[in-house]
Amino acid sequence: MRADLHVHSNASDGTDDPATVMRNAAAAGLDAVALTDHDTTAGHAAARAALPEGLTLIPGMELSCHLNDRSVHLLAYLFDPGDAELAGQTHRIRDDRVIRAKAMVTKLRELGADVTWEQVTAIAGSSVVGRPHIARAMVAAGIIADPSDAFTSEWIADDGRAYVTKYALDPVRAIALIKAAGGVPVLAHPRAGRAWDLSDEEIAGLAAAGLAGVEVAHPDHDLAERQALLHLATALGLLATAGSDNHGSFTGGPIGSETADADTVARLHALAR
Ligand code: AMP
Ligand code: ZN
Ligand code: FE
Ligand code: FE
Repeated sequence: MRADLHVHSNASDGTDDPATVMRNAAAAGLDAVALTDHDTTAGHAAARAALPEGLTLIPGMELSCHLNDRSVHLLAYLFDPGDAELAGQTHRIRDDRVIRAKAMVTKLRELGADVTWEQVTAIAGSSVVGRPHIARAMVAAGIIADPSDAFTSEWIADDGRAYVTKYALDPVRAIALIKAAGGVPVLAHPRAGRAWDLSDEEIAGLAAAGLAGVEVAHPDHDLAERQALLHLATALGLLATAGSDNHGSFTGGPIGSETADADTVARLHALAR
């Protein structure tokens, strides 16, 4: 059993539609795939409708959180998408993402980067808008050569001149919301090497708040980080999960490049209500 537990579609900032993501997951030989778009479950229906024979969909989401002024991503699995509290919060995050993306475009223009909101929406369409859409619009506008060039202090990295923060949840509250909705909260890429790395103490604090797992295998974690995280997860009684964070042709590893085994998937299901 091979399960990629962290994959994006164009319901948020991935480049492929959910049906294509499911086909790619099957082509990669996966038995199960979790669709974990940022702050939305909008891709689940199309993914389910397009599910190839032999592939299981694990419905999920990557929830935007803030801890001590840093961005933290919580993966949520197998929750009730109709839960009013959780759905209300993700709705609020999505609404603020639009306001925030427009503010970043305004800042970019003030900095002399000739990119427009129309160029961003031409790429984002009805997707949950995020910095990758702005980065791709900056490429279309001829400001940078590659979307990754936007994630610098010059532009829209976390410490960037045109960066604007967004409404996001306290992870302790997010953990409670996910669990109240019957789901399983797992900390995403805690050692991705960005400004948002969490300390062992911070992870222990989230474990005490009810966190169920930690994403150990992620393309941005090197071997030493994986070993340290596995050790920590074991000590804290947390599930150690795996995901490619594939965003189609944008970022992340190839779909299926990081996989969890049958036991991990069974434990995820056992923890869900
Ligand atoms: P947002 O949720 O709008 O703040 O955008 C965060 C997303 O931007 C992440 O989920 C990644 O897809 C992407 N991202 C963040 N940092 C980088 C980076 N350094 N290079 C490329 N993409 C990035
Ligand atoms: Zn993303
Ligand atoms: Fe993430
Ligand atoms: Fe992700």
